[in-house]
This record gives sequence, structure tokens and C-alpha cells, in this order.
Amino acid sequence: MRSQPKACGTCMLCCKVLGIGEAGKEPGVLCSLALPRGGCGVHVRRPQNCADYQCMWTWAEPLDASWRPDQAGFLLNRRPDPAEVEVVVDPDRPDAWRREPYHSQIRQWADPRNGAISRVLVRTRGQVKVVFPGAEIDLGLPNHPRFQVQSGFQFGEGGMQPYARFTPLPGLGG
Ligand code: SF4
Ligand code: SF4
Repeated sequence: MRSQPKACGTCMLCCKVLGIGEAGKEPGVLCSLALPRGGCGVHVRRPQNCADYQCMWTWAEPLDASWRPDQAGFLLNRRPDPAEVEVVVDPDRPDAWRREPYHSQIRQWADPRNGAISRVLVRTRGQVKVVFPGAEIDLGLPNHPRFQVQSGFQFGEGGMQPYARFTPLPGLGG
């Protein structure tokens, strides 16, 4: 259930790690419109995508202050598939998501026995990893800005093995 959003406070990690097409901003670098002491230099005229954006921490009640993105070193996003969670990592702290308690929790979300979440992706500078409870698969850069991922388990050497691959989003053609 969604609770009232938590306040961002001094966090501005989404202004760094996300790409904002309307602002011509690449992922992984602090937006040129960010003020040196924090805050947005064009707040009342900021792009609609910025005004609308809320990372998962702001509305997911169980995530305490240690999960605030600037503290954790990554933000959590819900993707177009609402059962998919994306961990978008600060490229200056690429292993932040591997620290505890984050790593154990992220792997727990990736467990297929967890019915609420189907897939966990980790993105660092656009490179995508798919997390499984006991493994991860590095897919590299997606071939389209609006990608989807298929993943699961299939029979392979020594039994069931995880797999993951990019697939085009339906309706995009090509
Ligand atoms: S990453 Fe989340 S908490 Fe931080 S500024 Fe963006 S929306 Fe707010
Ligand atoms: S325009 Fe403002 S809110 Fe949007 S990314 Fe840049 S600094 Fe952040």
C-alpha cells in the first residue's frame, strides 16, 4: 500500500543517476541545472518528468532512512512492468548496492518465491545486471532506451540455471 511520500530532504540522486530526455541530460552525471548547494535551479520550470518523479523510497513505507538514495548510494525504481524493481546505482559508488543490509534484501526481492516482485535489475551508467538469489547476469547496455528483460530459470548443465536477455518492448517494431 502506498503511504504519504517521504520528503526528499537534501537528496538529489535522481538528478544525477537518471537520464532526463526533456532536459537533454545523460544518466550518471549531475544535472547542469542543479544548484551547487542543492536544489533545482529551474524548480518552477523543471521538466514534467522531474516534477512527476518519485523514487520508491519516497512511497514504500518499509524502506527506512538508511534507504534514502543519497545514503544508500542507489535509488529504487518501479519499471513499466510494475512487478519489476530497478536499482539505479550512483556510478561514483558502483558497489553501494552490494553492502549490507541492501544486498541481502535485494537478493531476497529477486527470489522467485517472493510473489510480489518478478525481477530485479541493477543499472549502473545504463549497464544492466539481472539479480537472482544466488547469481547475477550482466547484460551490458540495452539496445533501446525502452527495453524489457526476460529472465527466469531453465534446464542446463548441472540442473536449473538462471537466464536473462533483452527483448524489444511490444509495439516498438524493429
Ligand atoms: S532520488 Fe528519490 S529521495 Fe532522492 S531526490 Fe529523487 S525522488 Fe527524492
Ligand atoms: S531539471 Fe532540476 S529536477 Fe530535473 S534533473 Fe535537473 S536539477 Fe533535477
